[in-house]
Amino acid sequence: MTAPLDLPGYAHIYSGKVRDLYAPLDGAGAPRDDQVLLVASDRISAYDFILSSQIPDKGKVLTQLSLWWFEQLAPLVPNHVVSTDVPAAVEGRAVLVERLDMVPVECVARAYLTGGGLTEYQTDGTVSGVALPDGLVDASRLDEPIFTPSTKAPVGEHDQPMPYADVVATVGEERAAQIRDLTVRILSKANEIAAPRGILIADTKVEFGYRDSGELVLADEVLTPDSSRFWQAAAWAPGTRQASYDKQFVRDWLTSPESGWDRESGQEPPELPDSVVEQTRAKYVEAYESITGRSF
Ligand code: ATP
Ligand code: MG
Repeated sequence: MTAPLDLPGYAHIYSGKVRDLYAPLDGAGAPRDDQVLLVASDRISAYDFILSSQIPDKGKVLTQLSLWWFEQLAPLVPNHVVSTDVPAAVEGRAVLVERLDMVPVECVARAYLTGGGLTEYQTDGTVSGVALPDGLVDASRLDEPIFTPSTKAPVGEHDQPMPYADVVATVGEERAAQIRDLTVRILSKANEIAAPRGILIADTKVEFGYRDSGELVLADEVLTPDSSRFWQAAAWAPGTRQASYDKQFVRDWLTSPESGWDRESGQEPPELPDSVVEQTRAKYVEAYESITGRSF
């Protein structure tokens, strides 16, 4: 992984798969514990590996798209954004946010059935303990979006489905219900906004945290190609695998003979060819532009 940046006025505190977190320093040069600078890198992961290749502008797309969604969702839920006034070295791909007590749950909502949710359904007819009707196929639209939380797995491991009862055990009944209802409402609202722009949001993952006051706040990134499955509405065809909006080129190439990589080998995937990097960058930019109606 790339080394943390030396940002004057900030101390590095943590690096996840995609983001690097820094604490602003106070007047005495000590790290503040109430705010974080959330810096999105151009790193990309596939098949649970952080790839050695980066996608230019990806961090900026994720950050700008999240900021746009936070604004759209503000009538529904408060968010962690404090300021976009950030050091020049990370301009456009960093946000100063409230440092929250994070809920240790990946809050997933699904409006369409696919991916890990489909696999679970095919095994026992349920997803994270939610029973679904018979006869659903890949990319079927669900009557109502459902809440299918998962655990936050460490880097390199798969998130595991988490029954709702485990969420209740983690945060209590009242907070669990609040988190569930908000997650589902966020996806419904996002689909209302994206539909006229020709995009379906099959599913999404959000994260929440608590302020000291106990108030629940939307955190992390929201409704980006990394946290959500975007599909082209015009090409939606239940019963077939829908191309993932962003990482399809990466996955297709990695699993093609050309890459020489064996997914089962446990070895690091090879570097991506320039054409795959460029096509992937174009997809991220396209997602941003279609959804926001702005040019990147
Ligand atoms: P992991 O935390 O397991 O490494 P990840 O790889 O998805 O997950 P990144 O997205 O790269 O992590 O890093 C973002 C990290 O910042 C996540 O751990 C997320 O929970 C945390 N985070 C997001 N918003 C806030 C906030 N407002 N306060 C504190 N932590 C936050
Ligand atoms: Mg993350």
